[in-house]
Order: sequence, then C-alpha cells, then structure tokens
Amino acid sequence: MPTIFTRIINREIPAEIVYENEDIIVIKDINPVAKIHFLVIPKKEIATLNDISQENKYLIGEVFFSIAEIAKELKIDKDGYRVIANCNTYGGQEVFHIHFHLLAGELLGPMKN
Ligand code: AMP
Repeated sequence: MPTIFTRIINREIPAEIVYENEDIIVIKDINPVAKIHFLVIPKKEIATLNDISQENKYLIGEVFFSIAEIAKELKIDKDGYRVIANCNTYGGQEVFHIHFHLLAGELLGPMKN
C-alpha cells in the first residue's frame, strides 16, 4: 500500500508542489502551523528516521541541500527557519514516509509545545 506522499508523488492525489527533482519533492503542508510550512520528502519510501541506511543516507543530504536552496529563494535564510522530523509515537509521527517539516515566515517560539 503506497503512502499518501507516494500517491502525491505519483499525482494520484493533489498537493501544492513547491519543488521537485529526481530524489525529493517539496509540498505545502495541508494543515500549516506557521506562515510557511513545507514538507520536504525523499521520494523513496523510507518509513522512519530509524530506517535511514548506508544505501539511502545520501538522501538526507539532498533534503538539507534543498532546504538551503529554498531558504535562499524565499529569502527566509537570514531571518531563519526551523526543520523538524517526527519519529514514531513520542515524536508524533503520523505519516510513515520520512519527511522534514520546514517552518518559517514568523517567529516560531519555543521548540516544544
Ligand atoms: P508527521 O507525520 O506528524 O510528521 O506529519 C505529517 C504531516 O503531513 C502533517 O503536518 C499533515 O498536515 C501533513 N499532511 C498529511 N496529508 C497531507 C496531504 N495530503 N498534503 C499535504 N500535507 C499533508
């Protein structure tokens, strides 16, 4: 059963796509918690942070390279932003297809709330 993000990548369900390349896709979160709330998603279905392996670890570099590029493009690099990856129950992970939340556009406040 493909994840909801794979279905977005395959254009089976709609999403606001911000950026895409061979390895990753960036979409707007459907339920934003900040003025800017993107999800940076490796296209490969990696379930959780625990599943990062020797074979797929380069994708995490791709994710952060894309974030740095997007930040420059949107001119949020100087003011700053926050990147969050939730893992399993205590992390509050809902979608078991690894993804990184990019929050920006306002003062984000305390990290845990
Ligand atoms: P989490 O797994 O808790 O790190 O977060 C999953 C995120 O995916 C949540 O912030 C949801 O709002 C977001 N989300 C779920 N379904 C969609 C969708 N169809 N399009 C965009 N974002 C989504």
